Amino acid sequence: MRFTSTRAKTNIESAQAIAMGLSKDGGLFVPESFPKISDSLVDKLIDLDYKGRAFEVLRLYLTDFTDEEIKYCVNGAYENKFDNNIPAPLTQLSDSAFMLELWHGPTCAFKDMALQLLPYLLTKSASKVADGKTMVILVATSGDTGKAALDGFADVENTKIIVFYPEDGVSPMQKLQMTTQMGNNVSVCAIKGNFDDAQTGVKTIFSDEKMKQLLAENNMEFSSANSINFGRLVPQIVYYVSAYCDLVKSGKINKGDSFNVVVPTGNFGNILAAYYAKQMGLPVAKLICASNKNNILTDFINTGVYDRNRDFYTTASPSMDILISSNLERLLFELYNKDETVISGLMADLSSKGKYAISDEVKAKLQAEFAAGCCDDDETKAQIKKLFDSCGYLCDTHTAVAVKVYEDYVAKTGDKTPTVIASTASPYKFAASVLSAVDNENMPESEFDMVDKLSKVTNTDIPTPLAGLKSKEVIHKNVCDKQDMSQFIKQSLNI
Ligand SMILES: *Cc1c(COP(=O)(O)O)cnc(C)c1O
Repeated sequence: MRFTSTRAKTNIESAQAIAMGLSKDGGLFVPESFPKISDSLVDKLIDLDYKGRAFEVLRLYLTDFTDEEIKYCVNGAYENKFDNNIPAPLTQLSDSAFMLELWHGPTCAFKDMALQLLPYLLTKSASKVADGKTMVILVATSGDTGKAALDGFADVENTKIIVFYPEDGVSPMQKLQMTTQMGNNVSVCAIKGNFDDAQTGVKTIFSDEKMKQLLAENNMEFSSANSINFGRLVPQIVYYVSAYCDLVKSGKINKGDSFNVVVPTGNFGNILAAYYAKQMGLPVAKLICASNKNNILTDFINTGVYDRNRDFYTTASPSMDILISSNLERLLFELYNKDETVISGLMADLSSKGKYAISDEVKAKLQAEFAAGCCDDDETKAQIKKLFDSCGYLCDTHTAVAVKVYEDYVAKTGDKTPTVIASTASPYKFAASVLSAVDNENMPESEFDMVDKLSKVTNTDIPTPLAGLKSKEVIHKNVCDKQDMSQFIKQSLNI
């Protein structure tokens, strides 16, 4: 398996793609072709546990890793790190809808699925291609990635991790999770700006030759834990394959029957992984992209025009408050038959004019695969209440966006295909919004009182990692302007 860039012909192995994170030309690394999940492999996967399934899927892409190396990575990531040792359980909601719960890991959001594995993949990759250099992981986060990356990389040898988050763009729980993070190799800084500012800042620093030079002189090299890193994507393919195996194994569908996937989407990483799984032969029918009030992807899928010249909203589902969905570039690359020249042009338009339009032919291809919808905060909260009242299922704000968009989709199309909805965070991560949705009388003042009340009112358990935050000391208090991000990095690295 070789990897190329979405913007210039490249030919590298997975270790190099993972160690580098982002290509020099600004493009993203993508597999040259998709390995197929054969019929006999499905038979084998059905009888394996999550780790076994992860191993089998990963080895199709990481052909420059030995089986022993992949097993070591997978065991480190998924053994005893997730509730009941089941990383991605499937819960039935109705006759045809299933929740794929991806938040049973140490930080209570789906980012753990990939970020528990990435430090293993990255340090193995670095030992193959970056001979002994310290990998400096730069992260821009809308909340969940930051904590999941900090948890995954804390005290991992030969790595340093630096996380930037928008000062006012994350939930109090997300902020506390990050600012209390321990570890001798971690730095955390709030920036005065939104997520896109943080992401753009990180991308700029990545391609800054002077910074690269300075790092090299200190035997360091940048890498990324954002979903632009292929090492983040490949673990996400696994849980869609695993969900299919669980559906077949439990007799909910027959082998070969297709199913829809609904994903609450921000940077387009999670839904892209489902698309990749489909390219590998998984019988996915529609991919349904759910957005909050920042509905740039809904507009794009419905019109073929991507236009970021619009207002940015801070919503109750902050991990989806994004106007530049980086991973969309990878989808465009496939839809344009892997034509890097076209993609470079579109991305140049995006950076100079803030918009681009795809051809009618590509739009038709896009709409054949994807449906899209969006909802605002009031609809999100109404959905949380409706789901809780009707079936006792408590979901977080992001997942509620997905459920609402799914219900709208079914109402509009009558599509009864069995459907897997990606449930991306514990409701306790967004306690204020979730509590106000189910019971908004006498709202407590503090986040922890809200958490306690939510547990009482809904008779559900507070996840242990969140309950433990209350007694932790805030260690990271840095705030900087977005122009000063590189200064903060130099300080953190002592260079
Ligand atoms: C990151 C995140 C999303 C968005 O996922 P993308 O891969 O960026 O599209 C949705 N929900 C939650 C809870 C998240 O943390």
